Amino acid sequence: MLYLNYMAILEILQYPDLRLRTKATPVTDVKDPQIKKIIDDMFETLYKTPNCAGLSATQLNLQNPPRITVIDESSTNKQPFCLINPVITVTEGKSNYVEACMSVYPDYNISGKVARPDRITFTALDRDGTLLEIAAEGFFSRCVQHEIDHLNGIIYLDHLSSLKRKMVDKKIKKILLKM
Ligand SMILES: [Zn+2]
Repeated sequence: MLYLNYMAILEILQYPDLRLRTKATPVTDVKDPQIKKIIDDMFETLYKTPNCAGLSATQLNLQNPPRITVIDESSTNKQPFCLINPVITVTEGKSNYVEACMSVYPDYNISGKVARPDRITFTALDRDGTLLEIAAEGFFSRCVQHEIDHLNGIIYLDHLSSLKRKMVDKKIKKILLKM
């Protein structure tokens, strides 16, 4: 029998969807075909979404999302990083940087300044189950921290000052009323 396994574009959940607050489940078997399929679909979704540098499983319409993040911050889509069970082990420095999110109305220019460590070291398994240990800085470091937050049910809005958060929430309310 001919069996074709099509890749699929997954729905990106939008704030304030409560599923964004789900804590992702650690992956115990990276060889599980279901996990491979989710990774393929996540990359497909990442590459088909304009200006998308990273996605975490908790942002997608998945039941019991696994602790998986996909990142490609290159403009050529040639630097795919699949991070399974990522853990930050070292942090250094701190600075403010403007962040936005695919789950927070990316087409409506919503963003906010978030203070995070500049440099991190993190561990993760890659798609083949190989243990990676990576020292990251700059935009890549930001991406990894933003995505690990997602796996813990945290959105960058949670890091904003209460005044800024109120302003953003107001803006989002207006967007939702127009939808
Ligand atoms: Zn995000």
